Amino acid sequence: MATIRLELVTPDKGEILSKDIDMLIVRSTAGELGILPRHARLLTELQPHAMRVKTGANEDLVAIGGGFMEVTPEQITILADSAELPDGIDVDRAKAAMKRAEERIAQYKQATKDSLIDISRANKALARAKARLLVKHVNF
Ligand code: ATP
Repeated sequence: MATIRLELVTPDKGEILSKDIDMLIVRSTAGELGILPRHARLLTELQPHAMRVKTGANEDLVAIGGGFMEVTPEQITILADSAELPDGIDVDRAKAAMKRAEERIAQYKQATKDSLIDISRANKALARAKARLLVKHVNF
């Protein structure tokens, strides 16, 4: 069966994944996408989420902190702002980040319009923390 190459890199850590896979399921800013071998060319922005990498009967989860994805019929290249495989995730850190983000969002909702809280930044931090916890199968 045909496969497609997945190359995942981050500015911090360089190469995170480089492997031939059967299918990738990602959340782009335009919605969820399933990428199979010989997919049409595509360039899109990714949301923070838990990406699903399918190889045979196996499905691996990878935490993606947003970024960009380029697809050609042979290869998927993702330049992620951050990316972690399950073994690289510190659950306590992700829980603490989630709590901070939730507190900021709650403060923003109570505050006046002159609030100094950057709500979009807080929402993205929350989504990154949730993605990390999902990859570790931690309920929140
Ligand atoms: P925090 O507030 O805990 O720093 P963050 O979402 O702001 O979380 P990022 O800016 O997305 O962190 O990532 C900075 C670096 O730290 C990246 O290299 C990322 O892979 C790593 N990182 C962030 N959170 C975790 C975590 N819970 N476990 C392992 N690595 C993490």
